[in-house]
Amino acid sequence: MLRFRLQGLEAWRVQHGEEHEEARMAEVPEVETITRDLRSAVVGRTIEHVEVLNAAAVRFPSPAEFAELLRGRRVEGAERRAKYILLPLSEHLLLAVHFMLWGTLTLTPTAAARPAETLIVWRLDNDQELRLLDTLAYARAAVGAPHELAARLDLDSLGPEALDPDFNVAVLSRQLAKRRGPLKTVLLNQRVLAGLGNRDADESLWVACIDPRRIPATLTPDELQQLHDAICTVLEEGLALRGTQRDLFGVQGKAKHRRNVFERTGRPCPRCATPIEHLRIGNRNTHFCPHCQH
Ligand SMILES: [Zn+2]
Repeated sequence: MLRFRLQGLEAWRVQHGEEHEEARMAEVPEVETITRDLRSAVVGRTIEHVEVLNAAAVRFPSPAEFAELLRGRRVEGAERRAKYILLPLSEHLLLAVHFMLWGTLTLTPTAAARPAETLIVWRLDNDQELRLLDTLAYARAAVGAPHELAARLDLDSLGPEALDPDFNVAVLSRQLAKRRGPLKTVLLNQRVLAGLGNRDADESLWVACIDPRRIPATLTPDELQQLHDAICTVLEEGLALRGTQRDLFGVQGKAKHRRNVFERTGRPCPRCATPIEHLRIGNRNTHFCPHCQH
């Protein structure tokens, strides 16, 4: 009977093309991987020339001003805040890049062919190009003075970083206190906690055995501790495996997109074999085990 059911699920997956679907997503482990790569390979370089191939990819200022402002600037650092990559530049400018669903940055020799999904190209002073790529063309970049960028992108409203060494259960409890609405929705609110995308939130709640529909105020101290530990485990594991996408140098990360529950609707829970269920919570796809998440 079990064998028959599993064969049925396999058939469902093939029929729905699930095996061939893109199994990648730019969440915090992926963005942090690229940020660290930028720190090792791009910081210290000077931008010689900028080409905007898709005007919609420049959030502000205009594409022409964007290219002009960036020309001749030296990259002085690479930082991450939530899913933003922030590159401080010479002469007190800040460049921000956001990958949205699965955009990415790649560093290649200037002579290498440009893929059709290239949105912006920054030519560096070492015959290499930094390219913003996105098959969906949703990824965005912006440049400005740091205070202007922080105001326009609302960077100062972001909550504490889940990957920060100072993130502990006291920080999580304080941030969740008085928040209304289902836990899944609260965890995705980057003003509460910066660091969880949809995939990593579902996986963290599964690791912690907590139902995504719970109200934060009902969590016991033990559950808060489990949730804190689960968030750290999921993010650090994703980061250690260098995410689900290609890194700055084109090397594919080894993290699994469908780790335990995410986009595994109908397939057996790895802990108890109950079929994983799908729900829309706060307009976001949510995947969980109805048996072992309480
Ligand atoms: Zn289960």
